[in-house]
Amino acid sequence: MAQTSFELKAQDGQARTGVISTPRGDIRTPAFMPVGTAATVKGMMPESVRATGADILLGNTYHLMLRPGAERIDRLGGLHKFMNWDRPILTDSGGFQVMSLSDLRKLTEEGVTFKSHYDGSKHHLTPERSMEVQKLLGSDIVMAFDECPALPADRDRIAQSMRLSMRWAQRSRDAFGDRPGHMLFGIMQGGLESDLREESAKALTDIGFDGYAVGGLAVGEGQDAMFGCLDYAPGFLPEDKPRYLMGVGKPDDIVGAVKRGIDMMDCVLPSRSGRTGQAWTRRGQINIKNARHADDPRPIDEHCTCPACSSYSRAYLHHVFRSHEMISGMLLTWHNLHYFQEIMQGMRDAISEGRFDAWEADFHALRAEGDIEKL
Ligand SMILES: [Zn+2]
Repeated sequence: MAQTSFELKAQDGQARTGVISTPRGDIRTPAFMPVGTAATVKGMMPESVRATGADILLGNTYHLMLRPGAERIDRLGGLHKFMNWDRPILTDSGGFQVMSLSDLRKLTEEGVTFKSHYDGSKHHLTPERSMEVQKLLGSDIVMAFDECPALPADRDRIAQSMRLSMRWAQRSRDAFGDRPGHMLFGIMQGGLESDLREESAKALTDIGFDGYAVGGLAVGEGQDAMFGCLDYAPGFLPEDKPRYLMGVGKPDDIVGAVKRGIDMMDCVLPSRSGRTGQAWTRRGQINIKNARHADDPRPIDEHCTCPACSSYSRAYLHHVFRSHEMISGMLLTWHNLHYFQEIMQGMRDAISEGRFDAWEADFHALRAEGDIEKL
């Protein structure tokens, strides 16, 4: 089976563009990964997700191991076949969602015992089991099993948790073994403490991973604190491996992260916002349920080539949202995913051509204008 690789093609300031090659296809970086929590990006057919420009999806280990079950997905031919997406899939380790969703958690050196938030059934997740589940799913990019404390947390708690995560990173590496064509990423922890981040990065690079995530951010610390950490944390990681910022974010978070050397991100925001009537545009965020759109024959964004903007008015989108029609969430999700991928393409082009700063200035200037004038 073909190997995987990461090729850095250009750098402009700290911003980088490159390609991660996998047997299931190339991932252009910086990359935004739509989230397919329950083996679907909600409201979208896989071919539609691909049409927005996504090279890779994220699947959630926690959700899939509980329902329908990793062994079942394996028997049915793996996650790619099951959900009809033949391109790369990254799966998280399950650790973060065990902490945020499940009940009655018990954390030990060995792993985490928890009750499913679906049916209360009892489960055990360890680095070894997380590697096994992600293998059963057939994930192309596997994440090491880690623990992530919510911020704010005191320094001792963050240090203790980070060191546990580093021991789990070694166990994840050992359990993953040698799987050509598949990548294993380690996850840096350490909260907002630069010396702990550095210690974590050193522990991970000593173990050796195919890529590195900056974990433990976007957990309530706010954008200033997150950017403050990203001003130094990516610099602790090897330059020749992809860097992944988990669970980010809003368009300006994404742009700020790429500016600071991040190559990959994922977030539920485009699809979740789409279902609640929120559209993200070059001129900021709009709420389609607002009465100002009821008679507006114009598209969400006249420059956008997505189906929602090519063929439908704000008035129609307003109507179907208010009428609770499924097409509302479908069209707004499509638009949002299309817009997020357009940002990524814009940044990739700008970095290649050495004009990232000018691109970023335009991005912020247009957003500052706000939505188009009311009719
Ligand atoms: Zn659009």
